[in-house]
Amino acid sequence: MNEDARKIRLIMELRRIGVLDTDVLSAMERIPRERFVPDLFKGQAYENTALPIAHGQTISQPSVVGYMTQQLEIGKRMKVLEIGTGSGYQAAVLSRLCRRVYTIERNRDLLSHAVKLFQELRLNNITTLCADGSGGWPEQAPFERILVTAAALDVPPALLEQLAPDGIMILPVGDTPDNQQLLKCRRTAEGIDYETLWPVRFVPLLGGIENGVENGR
Ligand code: SAM
Repeated sequence: MNEDARKIRLIMELRRIGVLDTDVLSAMERIPRERFVPDLFKGQAYENTALPIAHGQTISQPSVVGYMTQQLEIGKRMKVLEIGTGSGYQAAVLSRLCRRVYTIERNRDLLSHAVKLFQELRLNNITTLCADGSGGWPEQAPFERILVTAAALDVPPALLEQLAPDGIMILPVGDTPDNQQLLKCRRTAEGIDYETLWPVRFVPLLGGIENGVENGR
């Protein structure tokens, strides 16, 4: 099966699990996932599976990317904050749906690899920062949407503070990989509404920053 056929099969699979938003599906169709995975796994880029990237991290499963992106209910004029740039794939998908993506990664090596890809693919509306994302990005806040792609023990208070009125934040929460739920937090006039979505399996949200010297690609 060639790459186009694999891509179509993946898009059909996304639809089957309930990712029906045509803007989300078309963004995922247009972003070349094979560019974001290590050479060894390029043949699996259009399988519905998470894949290893450098530094023991992962590029998320396409169905999870599609589902979380759809749940964000993104509008074209919005500012979106992502925590956990990783390979850069999720940020690239978001960049096709909103005005500007701010993405934070704690590992310098992963971030510089992702920045190179954003430049090569001319994704010019992505701004990056190497930092501990639990503190958010106060200088750029508030954000209409926030997406966290590593699992926190609890909802980081700084991120809630940086969520705009009517804003939505999606994040995995849980203390072990076997016990994580995707949470949808919505800022309303009365406070924050919480909705539990899917059980998920993400790497943990860690503190501090990491320089990254491993050449794992
Ligand atoms: N969104 C990524 C993608 O599309 O490839 C997948 C993210 S991967 C599952 C989680 C990422 O979060 C890792 O790259 C990890 O280094 C990063 N991370 C973990 N804790 C973090 C923190 N406190 N601040 C920023 N990044 C963090």
